Amino acid sequence: MTRDDFVARYGAIYEHSHWVAERAWDGGIDPGGDVAATLRRVVERAGHEAQLALLRAHPDLANRLGRSALTDHSANEQAGAGLDQCSDEEFAEFQSLNTRYVETFGFPFIIAVKGLDREKILAAFRARVEGTPETEFRRALDEVHKIARLRLAPVQPAPPPREAISYDDLHALVKAALIHQGADDLNADAVADTVCAAERDGAESHGAFRVPGYVKALNSGLTNGHARPRIVDGPPAAVIVDADHGVTPTAYTIGLPALAERAGTMGAAVLAVRNTQHFAALWHEVEWLAERGFAALACTANFPYLAPAGAVRPIFGTNPLAFAYPREGAPLVFDMATSAMARGDIQIAARDGRSVPLGVGIDAEGRPTTDPNAILAGGSQLPFGGHKGSAIALMVELLAGGIVGDLFSDLAAEQADGSGVPPGGVFVLALSPDLIGGPGTRARAEAFIDRLAAIPGIRVPGDRRHANRARGGPMLVQSALLATMRSLAGLETA
Ligand code: NDP
Repeated sequence: MTRDDFVARYGAIYEHSHWVAERAWDGGIDPGGDVAATLRRVVERAGHEAQLALLRAHPDLANRLGRSALTDHSANEQAGAGLDQCSDEEFAEFQSLNTRYVETFGFPFIIAVKGLDREKILAAFRARVEGTPETEFRRALDEVHKIARLRLAPVQPAPPPREAISYDDLHALVKAALIHQGADDLNADAVADTVCAAERDGAESHGAFRVPGYVKALNSGLTNGHARPRIVDGPPAAVIVDADHGVTPTAYTIGLPALAERAGTMGAAVLAVRNTQHFAALWHEVEWLAERGFAALACTANFPYLAPAGAVRPIFGTNPLAFAYPREGAPLVFDMATSAMARGDIQIAARDGRSVPLGVGIDAEGRPTTDPNAILAGGSQLPFGGHKGSAIALMVELLAGGIVGDLFSDLAAEQADGSGVPPGGVFVLALSPDLIGGPGTRARAEAFIDRLAAIPGIRVPGDRRHANRARGGPMLVQSALLATMRSLAGLETA
């Protein structure tokens, strides 16, 4: 969607005030997100003078003579409430109330008329004309927002259709698709576990959306769908897994238990996975370790998608970093790309025809853009937090590439040979709070996290996913994606 399309669609939502939609677009609105909330935020932050101008741009409800100034929206809304059928007495009362109202407050009486008849509107008018300038200004703005929401509903495009599917059915479908496309049971099962866990937890960009990518990787021949990872020689504190050019979830089937065993005896150990491809979210591995009593950190470098702070060309991957700490209930887990937005979310925005916020990326000429396609095709993603995110992306390169002994992101592109399959290494660190910190360490951390969680406005990272998981029930997956997976599984044509 272009700026002009957006303004054409949403410019009349706030009466005679196209500037609201223009500013929303220029601020990097996500047209597939909550447009009403963003437009509202623009109005709320516009300052008193602009808000007053917005209120004054509304038609005078009592003034049938002002018809020529009515937008189509307004004319329909007023006719819907029967305001175009006022008796002479009602019209006279509207006029006299309005004269008083405008003299007192400096703008016309505004009310969302949907669901109200003339009698109710008049009763509200009589009450509100007695209000104070402060309360009435606020009230008028609230009514304007209410009108905007009502007007938005019919002009917003319908979201792509979705179907409810249970965890088990999705798991079976993902597995069937991967096996039909050449993976064996072990590899298909490991991928289906991570994909379905992401979908279940509401992490859509690493859920079923990834399956066509896994299939492309299998078909390219660069991903070994029959991989048999093995532990190779290394120092006692490091479990080194050669993933046999398979995906990381398969390598974890032997790597994570071995890492837990070493960290459980030595207090700390590293898992280095080489010759692998990591397409997944990283919380899966750190959460697995935290559920077994370890604090854990994981990271991986992938393709050169990210321009370091100050540059206009990419060299770093989007280099995610995840951390988990064991708790009495579900562990504390954070998992984030070091890019301002995960690439999967930019791809989803492109797929759904939405823009992305400014600061997410630059186009091929290095210019800031909100067009996801311009970022994906020839442009670069940007790190979160400027030079600070850039430094963390660098650290990830040196852990997942430099320590693990695998590829740095810039060289991964050469090895992938245009296939889109990111080869590389994965670094996982496991630490035992009990063995390192001594008795009571976890309880002290638990008390700290409780104090943190008690601060108003705070939420503990990982809680959103855990709440999604606890809700249970079927998941809503895009119908088109399910059709693609059924086709990949040889079940029906997409
Ligand atoms: P988000 O920005 O969505 O979230 C980052 C973290 O912040 C999450 O742990 C989230 O917890 C937490 N969080 C979000 N909002 C709040 C809040 N208000 N208060 C406290 N915590 C909060 O993640 P990204 O978009 O950066 O990354 C998405 C995924 O992409 C990650 O899983 C990452 O591993 C994956 N990825 C994988 C790559 C690969 O090569 N394999 C490459 C790049 C990314 P919560 O989950 O509870 O919302």
